[in-house]
Amino acid sequence: MSKNQIAFAADRMLGRLAKWLRVLGYDVIYGRHLSGYGLIRAARAEGRLILTRDRGLARKQPPPFLFIESNNYVEQLCQVLRACDLTPGEDLFSRCLVCNSQLQPRSKESVEKLVPPYVFATQERFSWCGQCQKLFWPGTHQQKMLAALGKIAQS
Ligand SMILES: [Zn+2]
Repeated sequence: MSKNQIAFAADRMLGRLAKWLRVLGYDVIYGRHLSGYGLIRAARAEGRLILTRDRGLARKQPPPFLFIESNNYVEQLCQVLRACDLTPGEDLFSRCLVCNSQLQPRSKESVEKLVPPYVFATQERFSWCGQCQKLFWPGTHQQKMLAALGKIAQS
């Protein structure tokens, strides 16, 4: 599986991890139905790597999975990036945090009437989810997260 095509199926205990992987542009399915055999079925159907905190999963003959060690989502994210040899970069903010669809870039001029003035004044990159009909831009909490990840990657 190439790095660009890697896809994940996160169990329902890993909502924050799933969200942050989407921020970084990775394909992650996540939902309340994704635990136990439901998770295994979904991962197998689409060739996804399972991310789980469920120690019992190994007994259910799952496809390849990564057992997530930490309860802390930053550490979880680091574990996934290291284990899969992923370097977050150009795909940042390319995926919808809500539905996992690929976002379409929108020009700054085209969103002027759609976002609050402060956002328009301070943000340069905007993306559109056709599925959710929703506009996204990188928030300050996301930029802080990326800075934190960069520090961890260098340590
Ligand atoms: Zn969406």
